[in-house]
Order: sequence, then C-alpha cells, then structure tokens
Amino acid sequence: MKALAGHFPAEGVQWAAELDGVVSLRLFVPGWSTAQMDAAATKARQAIAGLPGAQVKALIAEFVDDGGSVVYTSRPGASVQGGPSTPGPATPSSADGHTPIGGLTTNNSARGDASATGIPGVAKVIAVGAGKGGVGKSSIAVNLAVGLARRGHAVGLLDADIYGPSMPTMLGLGAMEQNVHGGMLQPFYVHGVKAITLGKLVDPEKPLIWRGPMAHGAFKQLTEQTDWGNLDYLIIDLPPGTGDIALTMAQMLKLTGAVVVCTPQKVAQDDAVRAARMFQQLNVPVLGVVENMSFFVGDDGKEYDLFGRGGAEVMAQRLNLPFLGSVPITMALRVNSDEGNPSRNFEGGGSLPIALEKMVTNVEGQVSLAALRAGTMRPTLKVK
Ligand code: ADP
Repeated sequence: MKALAGHFPAEGVQWAAELDGVVSLRLFVPGWSTAQMDAAATKARQAIAGLPGAQVKALIAEFVDDGGSVVYTSRPGASVQGGPSTPGPATPSSADGHTPIGGLTTNNSARGDASATGIPGVAKVIAVGAGKGGVGKSSIAVNLAVGLARRGHAVGLLDADIYGPSMPTMLGLGAMEQNVHGGMLQPFYVHGVKAITLGKLVDPEKPLIWRGPMAHGAFKQLTEQTDWGNLDYLIIDLPPGTGDIALTMAQMLKLTGAVVVCTPQKVAQDDAVRAARMFQQLNVPVLGVVENMSFFVGDDGKEYDLFGRGGAEVMAQRLNLPFLGSVPITMALRVNSDEGNPSRNFEGGGSLPIALEKMVTNVEGQVSLAALRAGTMRPTLKVK
C-alpha cells in the first residue's frame, strides 16, 4: 500500500489487508517504542482514510518481533473521516500471536454447537494434499468439489494453500469482492460451490511470507469465520508438503479423510508417500490416492503414457491405500482452470469428464467406508 510509505519502512510492512473497511497491518520495526508505533499507525490511518473513495472503519496494526510473534497492537481511535484521531489502547493478541483479520468476529458461539467435524453445519471434511507443488492438487480439489456439487451435494471449498492460493483464478473470482456480514466472511458461490480463499483477502501480487503462528491464525479464521451454512462436504486444498497448516487442521477439525494427489513419476511418488504418512501420523484417514497427469490423449485419439502411467497406483498398493483414479493431462483442464470455468471439465464427453466422474464416485465410496469404520453410519441392507 502506497499510503503506508513514509510512515513505516517499506521492508517493515509484512502484511497489509483491507476487509470491509477494516485495515489490518503486520509490521516489523525493530527498536521502535510503543509511542512511535502508535503515532505511525495513527498517521497511516489518516493517510489511508484520505485516499479517494476510502472508507476506513478501523485500522489494526500488529507489530511483530523477528520470530513473528506479536509484541504490540495499535488501534488508532474510532473516528475516521475528518480530522486527526488519537491512538487507542493496545489490544492483546491471542495466545498464538495472531489477531483477527479486521472486521471479523473472534468467536464462533453464535453458530450453535460444533458438529462432528468441528465446524457447525458441516457434515464431512476432506483435505486434499500432495507431497510437492505443481502436481495438480488444487485442480483435483476444485474438480472434486465441483463434481460433488453436480451430484446434488452441498459443497464448500476452502483454499488453504495460503502460500500460493490459486482459487481466484481457477474459480474465476477475478472481479468479485469479498463480502463480510455480521462479522463472518461470505463465501463466493461459484460453479455450485461455496468457496473461500485468502487470495481475495490479501494483495495477490505480494509474496506471502507466513510464519507458523500467522499461518495457523489465517487457517483458523478462514475455517471458523466463514459463513458456510449447512454443507455435506467441505473440501480443503492444503499447501503442498507436510507443513504447519496440516497440523493446525488436524488439531482443529475432525476430518473425514484426506485425498493424496500424485503424478506417476518415481520422484513424485516418494513425496506423496511422505504426505500420506503425515496424514496417518495426524490420525487423518487417507481416503486414497489420485494419479494426476496420468496419461496424455493426443489429437489422434491415442493415449500416451508421458510420465509412466500407473506409478501412483502401484504406490497406493504398496501403502495399502485405495486408488481413486487416473486423471489425464488435457489441454481442456488447463484452459478451463486458467479461465476459471471448472464446470466445463465435466461437459462434452471424452476421457476427462469420464475420469473425473470416476474419481468423484470413488471418493464418495471411500467416504461411506470411512463413515462405516468410524461408526458414524450403519450399513443398510435392501431386500427387494
Ligand atoms: P498444485 O496445486 O499441485 O500446485 P495446480 O492444480 O495448481 O497444482 O496445477 C498446476 C498447473 O497444472 C495448472 O496450470 C493446472 O491447470 C495444470 N494442470 C493440473 N492438472 C492438469 C491436468 N490433468 N491436465 C492439464 N493441466 C493440468
């Protein structure tokens, strides 16, 4: 934000976000006194309020130490437009060193009792993970969500890949504004899915350097402070690898299970094994493995096994995990992702819709089995 220049050193601004008129800043300014922090926050607020069209209801400036822990919070006073405001009292931050994205409520009590998953109204939570980036984890998460929604399920999609949120592009959220009502984030309703992504809350051009407690806080907020309503499924697109977010998720929520996405190559398999083991260590049942970019269908209609089709299936067998299906590399999937139109992946026939439908069916089947195993569903026997 240009309005911050002159008030804080540019390299000291770690995070600047505006939501529903509330500006949140995270700053690293070693050596400053609290009086200096308050004075700079007040001036920054005045500068932002002075921008054309700006409606600043509040500004929350968190000052962190070099370990990322919040050492001081400044909230320049409530009056905004017209005239200087005075610094308000510092607010304590939560134990995890994170204070909320501005404008959002901090407790969940208005939403009734927690469900079995830990999110009120949400029946099942499925995480989609991968050992490393670029294997198509987000693509699989989006298509799984859209595929389930097309079958009549109420589906939410949480883009928890906070290091590189891709949902704004993949779901075509470009021009849409993030709304907040009653202190709760309102998910975007697109392609039959309720979606939320940090990509719509922070500057997309800025690299996000999250430290553990910040990542934990951001995940918690996106999960708990989104107005999900009643959902049959919440699909969570995790960051690649085996990091903080998965741990936070496993601590906060009771997951139905996880889907591991892998490409066929040996190197990708090794990473996927680590991801599967991580879920098992976190007591998250692994619903199975999806092999993405499994094969390529040429214009001649022939299938080419570019990366060694079947590699992920063998890996799944080795780990005694269900295999959920092979999704081919297709130009259509890449184009539809770039254009924000995943619904089109399910239309027009051909190997891609067939593969995606198969994957959705297999996930539904594994979810039912997981529910049977967990004792949350009884088997039914139909006698004709
Ligand atoms: P990840 O979440 O693992 O980093 P993405 O889902 O963002 O991976 O996919 C990376 C890129 O590869 C995107 O441009 C996406 O459109 C493309 N892609 C993923 N899977 C396929 C596929 N099966 N066919 C064609 N392109 C794909």
